[in-house]
Amino acid sequence: TDLSKIRNFSIIAHIDHGKSTLADRLIQRTGGLTDREMSSQVLDNMDIEKERGITIKAQTVRLNYKAKDGETYTLNLMDTPGHVDFAYEVSRSLAACEGALLVVDAAQGVEAQTLANVYQSIEHDHEIVPVINKIDLPAAEPEKVKAEIEEVIGLDASEAVLASAKSGIGIDEVLEAVVRKIPHPKGDRAAPLKAMLVDSWYDPYLGVVILVRVIDGVLKKGQQIKFMQADTTHLIDRVGCFRPKIEQLSELGPGEIGFITAQIKDVAQARVGDTLTDAKRPTAQALPGFKEVQPVVFCGLFPVDANDFEKLRESISKLRLNDASFSFEMETSAALGFGFRCGFLGLLHLEIIQERLTREYDLDLITTAPSVVYNIKLSHGGGTIDLHNPADMPDPNKIEQIDEPWIEAVIYVPDEYLGPILKLCQDRRGIQKNLTYVGGRAQLTYELPLNEVVFDFYDRLKSISRGYASFDYHQIGHRAGDLVKMNILVNNEPVDALSMIVHRSAAEARGRHMCERLKDLIPRHLFKIPIQAAIGGKVIARETIAALRKDVTAKCYGGDISRKKKLLDKQKEGKKRMREYGSVQIPQEAFIAALRMG
Ligand code: GDP
Ligand code: MG
Repeated sequence: TDLSKIRNFSIIAHIDHGKSTLADRLIQRTGGLTDREMSSQVLDNMDIEKERGITIKAQTVRLNYKAKDGETYTLNLMDTPGHVDFAYEVSRSLAACEGALLVVDAAQGVEAQTLANVYQSIEHDHEIVPVINKIDLPAAEPEKVKAEIEEVIGLDASEAVLASAKSGIGIDEVLEAVVRKIPHPKGDRAAPLKAMLVDSWYDPYLGVVILVRVIDGVLKKGQQIKFMQADTTHLIDRVGCFRPKIEQLSELGPGEIGFITAQIKDVAQARVGDTLTDAKRPTAQALPGFKEVQPVVFCGLFPVDANDFEKLRESISKLRLNDASFSFEMETSAALGFGFRCGFLGLLHLEIIQERLTREYDLDLITTAPSVVYNIKLSHGGGTIDLHNPADMPDPNKIEQIDEPWIEAVIYVPDEYLGPILKLCQDRRGIQKNLTYVGGRAQLTYELPLNEVVFDFYDRLKSISRGYASFDYHQIGHRAGDLVKMNILVNNEPVDALSMIVHRSAAEARGRHMCERLKDLIPRHLFKIPIQAAIGGKVIARETIAALRKDVTAKCYGGDISRKKKLLDKQKEGKKRMREYGSVQIPQEAFIAALRMG
């Protein structure tokens, strides 16, 4: 293909500004799909993606567009994941393109994620074409949004396309702008093959499918290729593209985006950002920017019904086939039984996997409080360990220092909510780095410990601002912190699933909260039950469940036979899910409720 007739671009936007709707319109307009096939959004294809309106996996589609200049162009439209947890995938998708459509909602204006994405796009030297979407809305203020784009981002918005992806306004103008403004790719067909692995996923019919962007050289069926980071070789058995239906091609040349299959069994072998080259005639240097993705948030997943353990193992293994970025290993808990310790790229990633297990595999699950990865320096030159599970915390006497991960967060919020949001950040040990105002909105930059963010920060932010605040973050490394492990003791015995690592200053409040909660959740017994929060041997909060009076039980067991039998059956049922602490029986629901405190 003639390089000057190719355009590779992505669409960047804040969530809900209309990225998927616009993508679907572009596909429809260029004939990729019939109207009937358009009935549901094409690029968001998982249920959860549809409901939450976010893209979890990148998708790409090849369009043919006959432009006003009479020439036919090949447009490769790359959809990028819409959430901060997948920032690395986004960066690779952007690296595969020469330009981007910046979609901004005409009624909402620029938001935190718009900014985060646009800065990334600029870093990749993209030509950025602003598109002001939803101009059909009565509240649309395209001129104001244009001014905002210029003021906040510093982009020339005088030629911004005014569009309504929903009603199909401005779609041709968007396509023309892509052809005229976005530069065509460059590349050398005669040079050794160099291609970037943009994404990979598991397809039940095709096996592992790999999305690639060819930089130099040619990819062909039957070619022996080498993955430079993974240091493996594979034989290509299919080459093609998505229109969005699969179309097989004879080859992919420089500047092109498409897919290959190579009889790869495990997505973990096809890592995003890897460089593909010809095994016999390799390129001298791999592409820059490869990064090994590491899970940053960990939690335990346990089946509510212990009999579901095997089913959980199978389901997790299946999900993992398609997502090499989460990890799992078996874990046992005295409180919750057998389960798995799982690692995720972030909180949303955790929620997605948890939701898929619940919905697609029909599992009832308990999730323990999310925890980040701490670096623990042991005393007397004992080395350092990465701690993924508070239960594995070494004896405090053997610890010299605990380092925790920090993030830099950018929060974008209407002025009127600024006060309470500053307080929230401050309460979470945040360090304010910057505060600027742009058109009635504040842009706040804070450094925060990640462990304070995984603990319901996002929900609080949304509720304080009535949904108007937006939030974006990236990690900035580990820092030493005054962190302690807090145990929760019921009848003087620690409950492993409830232990957590907290900052010393927050321990008492959190411990008290947990004790109060458990007091309401644990049924009374014939004796008093102490509930305590403790750091090492020191009790920092305490509640007591009063003893049950005898006559209450007597009353309870009166009545006719059938009622009594029902009660006994119910008790039996309950017994299965009881855990004993000392001589205290705690229904599993108590742990679940305590863990769902958020
Ligand atoms: P994404 O999160 O950026 O992919 O956004 P979507 O494409 O999923 O759109 C979010 C919501 O905005 C959906 O309910 C769309 O129907 C709606 N939407 C998208 N484009 C327009 C538009 O031009 N006008 C109006 N009124 N609504 C739109
Ligand atoms: Mg979308």
